[in-house]
Amino acid sequence: MATKWNLLFPEGKRKAVTFSYDDGLVHDRKLVELFNTYHVKGTFNLNSGELGRIEVENIDGVKQENSTVTVKEVRQLYKGHEVASHTVTHPSLPALDTSVMSYEVITDRKNLEDITGYIVNGFAYPYGTYSDTVKSVLQMCGIQYARTVNTTHQFELPTNPLEWNPTCHHNDDKLMELAKEFCEEEDIYRRIRLFYIWGHSYEFARNNDWDTIENLLKYMQPYLSDIWVATNSDIITYYNAFKQAKYYADGSTIINTSGIDLYFEGDDGPIVVKKFTELSI
Ligand SMILES: [Zn+2]
Repeated sequence: MATKWNLLFPEGKRKAVTFSYDDGLVHDRKLVELFNTYHVKGTFNLNSGELGRIEVENIDGVKQENSTVTVKEVRQLYKGHEVASHTVTHPSLPALDTSVMSYEVITDRKNLEDITGYIVNGFAYPYGTYSDTVKSVLQMCGIQYARTVNTTHQFELPTNPLEWNPTCHHNDDKLMELAKEFCEEEDIYRRIRLFYIWGHSYEFARNNDWDTIENLLKYMQPYLSDIWVATNSDIITYYNAFKQAKYYADGSTIINTSGIDLYFEGDDGPIVVKKFTELSI
């Protein structure tokens, strides 16, 4: 009897993978192409005030393309993925006055919503910096989740979505080790697992190491049929639906108050609790 209502991902999957890439430089074009080729989904955190920037930087005598994608191409380029906010101009938020902080967040949301045509309520902290004040401002601006740059080397869902710590950066020495552990092993407590990778597409261009991401995606291919391929928003939306479910104290009945079907572990395969329904076991 599944009295504990152990959550599974959609379609009864036990694992999910998601990617989060920042700053919207033109190298996103190649990254999106790779994601599409290998059938994974990413969340792309954009600075609306920086879109369409044309810039070549000289780093240690080497010319680096530092231009960003244009407003015009955003909707088509990131189709099937998620566009999330990274502020209008990429400041370090904790140092700012709260009104300026709010402006950076809400204006970026509004700009990106106008461009994409959907609700933009995901966020990644510029430079990875945040504080309690920043988190309150994000909450007031309707942000549902915010990604940090704190590596966990774990596969857990976030305790606080406004402090969503990723599994690792793509440059992490343990990347392939973690991928192997994620794909080939199960959690000993049979908990669901999320593999969350983040970075910047320009890093692949600068370091000339596109094979880092391509090798990871190739390696994961045969396992993907058992893995939920999702954007950050897909995961948080699903998880929030789970968190707002109501239960009788003895666990005999669950009420799914959300508009999303929820999946739980059952003795003979996954149990589905349809949206807006009650289920007793
Ligand atoms: Zn950034």
